[in-house]
Amino acid sequence: MVKFLDLQKQYLSIQGEIDQAMQEIIMNSQFIGGPALSRFEAAFALFQQASHCVGVANGTDALEIAIEALDLPAGSEIIVPANSFFASSEAVSRTGHKLVFCDVDSGNYTLDPAVVAAAITDRTKVIVVVHLYGHPCDMAAIGSLAQTHGLKVIEDCAQAHGAEFDGRRVGAIGDVGCFSFYPGKNLGAYGDGGAIVTNDEQLALKCRMIANHGRISKYDHEFEGRNSRLDGLQAAILDVKLKHLPDWVARRRAVADMYLEGLQASDNLILPVVSPKVAHAYHLFVVRTPKRDALMEHLAAEGIQTGIHYPIALPKLGAYRDHPQHNASMKACEMDCQLLSLPMGEHLEDQEVQRVITAVNAFFS
Ligand SMILES: *Cc1c(COP(=O)(O)O)cnc(C)c1O
Repeated sequence: MVKFLDLQKQYLSIQGEIDQAMQEIIMNSQFIGGPALSRFEAAFALFQQASHCVGVANGTDALEIAIEALDLPAGSEIIVPANSFFASSEAVSRTGHKLVFCDVDSGNYTLDPAVVAAAITDRTKVIVVVHLYGHPCDMAAIGSLAQTHGLKVIEDCAQAHGAEFDGRRVGAIGDVGCFSFYPGKNLGAYGDGGAIVTNDEQLALKCRMIANHGRISKYDHEFEGRNSRLDGLQAAILDVKLKHLPDWVARRRAVADMYLEGLQASDNLILPVVSPKVAHAYHLFVVRTPKRDALMEHLAAEGIQTGIHYPIALPKLGAYRDHPQHNASMKACEMDCQLLSLPMGEHLEDQEVQRVITAVNAFFS
């Protein structure tokens, strides 16, 4: 069996360190806040090249809190790519703003800056870029649009821990970056977790207060916020795993290189196109084929697990049945039935990657 994800194998490779870190938290009973959280926040900010990091309960909260912290007029238009996980758009509507879906590039699946440029109106306030599958969006083009039109840029980095654009780690290239530590992400907790990073000290403080009942000190509530915290156990686990992340991302890149070299691209098998400006974090390795379902079945019969990210483009989802773009014609909406995610992760052995390559090539020959 070639597994899509193998968290048990990862745990066994670092079991001693993880068990010790968890034991320490339980013994000291510092379950909320405490030194493990501060340690991880500092280490993660450093890693993502941001001056501030605020741990929160999950990646969806990170997005909602970041949007709320920007203090936008109600009903502002916020641009979101048409292909992403649902949380990217959910956060916009839940904070009371208006979703504007924009189409994605058919090579790297991130926001197409030309489409974004055409969608900007005088009510547009924010562009949410999603570094989908771990491929950073074109932050130079998006940054210049944001500057011209006075917009904020939120980076949804839930799939992009360790990814780089033009030599800079994602997260604090725009105004604020949102991370998820859902177990299956490149850096995953043993439960839910998330973080917000930024170089803006005021914005970081605002996010921290929103995430902690609108307070700084114990009973000093300045405004109504919410409870969205990264707990001590998760922070301690993430702190251990962060030290291994560079090696794990390097292994993902090596697996991707094997795929890119070994898979025979054709009109029937379209490989991801990686921009020369990025260092891809390869959360997912997604290919496109009109024979998606048959290929998926073929691989399953060969004992190879695959996934689909995502089967239905955001505007087409039931949640947006009343959205003006529900039936819009977009590449993202046509491509969704052709996407297939091959096994990807540091758990894969060379010979497993080779098995996938052989099985895919055999299907198309
Ligand atoms: C996983 C994910 C999220 C949400 O993160 P959670 O921690 O599960 O709330 C948001 N955006 C994208 C692109 C994701 O992949």
